[in-house]
Amino acid sequence: MIRKYSIKELLNKGKFLIDQKVLVEGWIRSFRYSIFIILNDGSTINNLQIILSKKLDKKIIKKITIGSSIRVIGIVKKSIGKKQYIELKSLDIIIYESVDPEIIQKSILQPKKHSFEKLREQAHLRFKTNIFSCVMRIRHHIAFCIHKYFHEHGFFYLHTPIITTSNCEGVGRMFQITTMNLKNQPIDYTKDFFKCKTYLSVSGQLEAETASLGLGKVYTFGPVFRAENSNTSRHLSEFWMIEPEIAFYHLDENINLAENFIKFVIKYILENSMEDLTFLDQRLEKCSKKNRLLEKLELILKFPFKRISYTEVIKIFDQEEKKKNIKFLHPIVWGMDLQSEHEQYLVDKYFKTPVVIFDYPCNIKAFYMRMNNDGKTVRAMDILFPEIGEIIGGSQREERYDILLQRMKDTNTDKKKLWWYLDTRRFGSVPHSGFGLGFDRIVQFITGMNNIRDVIPFPRTPNNAEF
Ligand code: ATP
Ligand code: MN
Repeated sequence: MIRKYSIKELLNKGKFLIDQKVLVEGWIRSFRYSIFIILNDGSTINNLQIILSKKLDKKIIKKITIGSSIRVIGIVKKSIGKKQYIELKSLDIIIYESVDPEIIQKSILQPKKHSFEKLREQAHLRFKTNIFSCVMRIRHHIAFCIHKYFHEHGFFYLHTPIITTSNCEGVGRMFQITTMNLKNQPIDYTKDFFKCKTYLSVSGQLEAETASLGLGKVYTFGPVFRAENSNTSRHLSEFWMIEPEIAFYHLDENINLAENFIKFVIKYILENSMEDLTFLDQRLEKCSKKNRLLEKLELILKFPFKRISYTEVIKIFDQEEKKKNIKFLHPIVWGMDLQSEHEQYLVDKYFKTPVVIFDYPCNIKAFYMRMNNDGKTVRAMDILFPEIGEIIGGSQREERYDILLQRMKDTNTDKKKLWWYLDTRRFGSVPHSGFGLGFDRIVQFITGMNNIRDVIPFPRTPNNAEF
């Protein structure tokens, strides 16, 4: 039996396999001088060089084209070239499918520079490209180490429902789901599948809270859906969110967790995805004059995040505007939500580190955030990152029954639908906290991609749900 290797395995173990017979499979990246095949199988950014035997039939040579899928049995040899340590001397080659060079020329697999927009139009093929396969491999490692982090810190992975009846969590518009025939007006939702109106969930937080009040530490990691018409480079209509929720946790502990967690993820990727990161680093540097990716990531690990209250932030903006250091397009006063120009100024210009803003005015935050003694602010916290802005939004939750009830009234939240949420405040309520991290945003930050649509396999955005 001849052992089959992935290209990653073969390149890693190559030294110890010299003169052995092995089997590899992959897609042809290039074919030169009718003798050198460059092969990739997706397992790594690196390619394997294959040397064909000279007596190959002309008919077969013709079939060896870019994009074609092949199987090769060959002998591992120490490479004479400097680029790679080993190469494969082919003994036997099978072509699974030979691709017509004319088709390749019209596709993103034609080896030349293509715009990210063009790659998106052929999203089903972009897994075969260097840049997107790097992003996808890193995306996998980020997901993996998120589970690793929580598991090792005593959290339980919780699956919250994707179908929900509550449209009252204070986050944007929701997608409705129904099995009703919408032609029959008026629609009686008591006859719908669930006997009521249902939606795709925008967050698993409320359910996660109830779980934390029994299990202590939980986290969710799943898809969420938002029907907002935000056509930006940071928003998707379907994205993945991580939401830890912890009982007996105050806001400062929540912020500590968030900072520690993000730094763990970045450190893990620096330690485990260096080849892919290095490729992206060199590639992105050519495309734009951005900070070098690796330096940017290492900088995040170096210093503590700046922690500052919303009220202090507004004071800084006042001072800076008075000193004429800055003039915002949208002037800001206490009580208003920060827009991206304010966030950018704070993170990129003023502090030059990630910034944690806490104690926001209650009128711009959700009903479940814990009211401070001043009666004006709540124990909210947002973490702002360079380039992408808000990466985390969290809070200490309102655990006091009466105050929560009052907040629900004040914000027109339907307490009948959320009876179960309110009820948890009568069965051993405790101070508790949590946050939501946009998974695709952290992938975007770590890979340095400009557009969030280029870090998810098949992006869903306004006007686009293809593939
Ligand atoms: P933003 O102000 O950027 O629209 P938000 O305040 O509406 O975000 P939250 O409801 O606090 O977002 O969601 C928690 C996290 O989920 C955010 O910090 C962000 O990382 C991520 N996130 C929110 N909306 C989107 C989106 N449309 N696409 C991708 N990630 C998102
Ligand atoms: Mn938010």
